[in-house]
Amino acid sequence: MLYESTRGNYRRVTSAEAIKLGIAPDGGLFVPCDRVTIDEQKLWDMIKHDYRERAYLILKEFLDDYSEGEIRDCLKLAYNTDNFASPVIAPAHRLRDGLYILELWHGPTCAFKDMALQILPHLLTRAASKTGERSAIVILVATSGDTGKAALEGFKNVPGARIIVFYPEQGVSEVQKLQMLTQEGNNVAVVAVRGNFDDAQSGVKKIFADEAFNLELQKANYRLSSANSINWGRLVPQIVYYFSAYLDLAAQNAIAPGEKINFVVPTGNFGNILAAYYAREMGLPVHRLICAANTNNVLTDFIRTGVYNRNRRFVKTISPSMDILISSNLERLLYHLTGRDHSRVARWMADLHRTGSYQVDEHSRDKMRQILWSDYADDRETLETIRSVHQRYGYIMDTHTAVGMKVYEKYTGATGDGTKTIVASTASPFKFNASVVKAILGGQAVADKDELELLHVLSETSGLDIPAGLKDLDRKPVLHRTITDRDSMAGVVKDILLG
Ligand SMILES: *Cc1c(COP(=O)(O)O)cnc(C)c1O
Repeated sequence: MLYESTRGNYRRVTSAEAIKLGIAPDGGLFVPCDRVTIDEQKLWDMIKHDYRERAYLILKEFLDDYSEGEIRDCLKLAYNTDNFASPVIAPAHRLRDGLYILELWHGPTCAFKDMALQILPHLLTRAASKTGERSAIVILVATSGDTGKAALEGFKNVPGARIIVFYPEQGVSEVQKLQMLTQEGNNVAVVAVRGNFDDAQSGVKKIFADEAFNLELQKANYRLSSANSINWGRLVPQIVYYFSAYLDLAAQNAIAPGEKINFVVPTGNFGNILAAYYAREMGLPVHRLICAANTNNVLTDFIRTGVYNRNRRFVKTISPSMDILISSNLERLLYHLTGRDHSRVARWMADLHRTGSYQVDEHSRDKMRQILWSDYADDRETLETIRSVHQRYGYIMDTHTAVGMKVYEKYTGATGDGTKTIVASTASPFKFNASVVKAILGGQAVADKDELELLHVLSETSGLDIPAGLKDLDRKPVLHRTITDRDSMAGVVKDILLG
């Protein structure tokens, strides 16, 4: 299996090269050149297997330049009960017959990013040695919260890799900040940037683009790479849980063999839902993919009209991991919808860069609308949904999942579709506890309390234990104290690597 750039101006590469490079050098994203199919027979053969074995059977189709032993080693290092609080890794919780919540947050950092970032470091270091790379891989991350911590946990103590995470000093929650500042590991660094997320992000981009600086690092045997969701190595592990959830429900006779189901996915950068799209293309019986957005509803408008327009106000919501106006992974969907038409994709991306907007042709739009449906939920609806789901089902969901749930209600209201449905749950309610407690117990309950105190309130209310990754955060030693200006970030990288 070879991979090519969505924009068609780079040679075809193996999966190891695609994972090592992260983004294609022509500015596009790597996509598989051939279609992988899992036919009905293969699907039913998987039903008896556990998560890790199902993952092997799917990954080997896409990563055929890795040996069986390499893939199995990576899977073993990632999906085990040291890293995941659930032995089934991604359990599906039944709300009622025909409606299930797929919990993707039992990993070390309590958000779905762990599903891919627990395995990516192992795929990446093996990719480096398979492609003859002599330098150590240095991962640079700019984070608005969830990705930084998940990348730190994934890369900590991984031989042949270093990781440096930059976060905006004032731009992350108290829990998220403490999660990062207490990070252990012999190859990790966490740096606060004076400024907002855009300052941190553009600082990192500038370092990636600085050829002289990269050359200097290479002389010292360091090569920069990215753990961002545009890396194919982050996308492919996410395909697995859509198959596995389907098989889990089939094994419980909750769905009949071959029965089509819907998936609802709370969406930001379009990575998670794109993995569901790949699963459907591979032959998983999926009827509709329901793309749930918050008030930053650029994707809802796009799916309805075929016009992508990022020229709008950025809104800070209570589902911050979905506050995004440029969904990078959408480029991969466009490539497939146009029948792999590089020049059309490149033209739309140039329009986006130049004007902040592009419009796809009618045929592509209609094709998209046969598969995808979208709506959005605002903060008031999100809180109301957390409250009503708790009241009706005794189940507590986080703000991002509640956006998905609300949009699912809007979907059934608009279409009357009674197809059985799985809602992807992207974070533990403990991670966004202030909004969750407010929704369930009212504004009084959160007054004068910080997020660390609210962890205990939520634990008492729910009867659930505080997840290990969030427990005792205030008692762990702070290990990272570096603060930098946006313009001095390269110097900080040099200090960390070259001493
Ligand atoms: C990253 C994230 C999302 C958005 O996922 P995408 O793959 O970017 O669409 C949703 N919810 C949570 C909690 C996240 O961390």
